[in-house]
Amino acid sequence: MTNPYICPGCLKPYERTPANFFKRTRSADGLESRCKTCRSAYFRAQYQADREKRHSANRRWRKAHPDRLKVYSRRWYAKCKLKRLARILERET
Ligand SMILES: [Zn+2]
Repeated sequence: MTNPYICPGCLKPYERTPANFFKRTRSADGLESRCKTCRSAYFRAQYQADREKRHSANRRWRKAHPDRLKVYSRRWYAKCKLKRLARILERET
């Protein structure tokens, strides 16, 4: 390994190649500063955090608008019922 690059995330030495680093056009050498392992872990954490945020926003909305939620679920149920009715009618004709 010539001139090993130390990943600032895990502090392990890596060869500075696209095999170990994701591409990043904006950086000086066209590669991410952190190794693929660190980058994937970061993306996963980010995704996880986003999901949590979405969930809690959803929960907040449900709590704030229980009446609208009722309307939505009723509408959804009605749609299902209609679909089922249509299927039954189709079968009988
Ligand atoms: Zn790393």
